Amino acid sequence: MPAPQPLAPNTPQRFYSGGRRILAFRGLEPTADFDDHRPEDWLGSTTRLFAEDGTGLTVLADGRTLAATLETSADEWLGPMHRNAYGDDSGLLVKLLDAAERLPVHTHPDRDFAKKHLDSAHGKTEAWLILEADPGAVVWLGFREDIDHGTLSELVDAQDQRLLALLNEIPVQRGDALLVPAGQPHAIGAGVFLVELQEPTDFSVMLDHAAFGLDPDHAYLGLPRDLALSSVTQTALREADLAALHTRWDDGSAPVRSGLADRATPYFRADVFDGRPGEAVGDAGFSVLVVVEGQGRLRTAAGDQIPLQQGQTLLTPYSSGDLFLTGDVTVLRCRPGLEDSPNTQMEAGS
Ligand SMILES: [Zn+2]
Repeated sequence: MPAPQPLAPNTPQRFYSGGRRILAFRGLEPTADFDDHRPEDWLGSTTRLFAEDGTGLTVLADGRTLAATLETSADEWLGPMHRNAYGDDSGLLVKLLDAAERLPVHTHPDRDFAKKHLDSAHGKTEAWLILEADPGAVVWLGFREDIDHGTLSELVDAQDQRLLALLNEIPVQRGDALLVPAGQPHAIGAGVFLVELQEPTDFSVMLDHAAFGLDPDHAYLGLPRDLALSSVTQTALREADLAALHTRWDDGSAPVRSGLADRATPYFRADVFDGRPGEAVGDAGFSVLVVVEGQGRLRTAAGDQIPLQQGQTLLTPYSSGDLFLTGDVTVLRCRPGLEDSPNTQMEAGS
């Protein structure tokens, strides 16, 4: 039976700079040849980079990739219910992300677009749980006003600062959480360190690519430019819509609580566990644990006992059964979504 296992850093080289906060969070020192282009740590990954060097897969302690392991042991790792619904697809990618510079304005296609044009069941809805933010740090999400295709096309041709200026600018600090629906243009500002949950793909339409040295084929997913741009949500994300996507993960309201807006549930779940004041319990299931603060202990129904401290990341299999957490510790538990959650049915019916 598989047991929970620590995840070693898995930091593919990226086109933008960052990564020192990932090392600091994990209690590691940069090596002498650290290249400052390791801004993402891919956790529980069955996904490869779309371009660049195609790396990104999580390798487990026995030397096999998680992807290969799920092909042969999906029942133990994912559980029969998940497997019946999704086969050996984990449905989840988690990253630590340390933006030392602003990321390009980009969007991700939704599931319908991905099925039709990219041969994938997943698009990429994502979410950010902010762990650290420099004073004054911001992120950008959604257009402030509706935009038409002609204007979008012109701004993408221009490759200047006007596009960014059309987005909602959102100041962030530790404890903020934002759901980023597929299609919505967005960018993470410099000085933000976060945990990112996403559908397990690396499909990005890079609206803002020239300054980052990205070639147009990469920027448009190998698709005709106008087709790629048609995946962008051109209607405004207004204040009330934005408020519904913006939650707090560290409000301390209960020892186990959801860190994200309910609308995230069909894509992924982010449960926040507080060891205080007693023992917090989670049900059996595949998950990526990120110890965001403090020290404590994880016990599983299968009998595993694992000491925890800030910066650790672990993969838990379904076969470990219920999880129990004690100590002065806060753990973020990232899980795959639930397609037919009661919340989804409510939304569909409303
Ligand atoms: Zn994104």
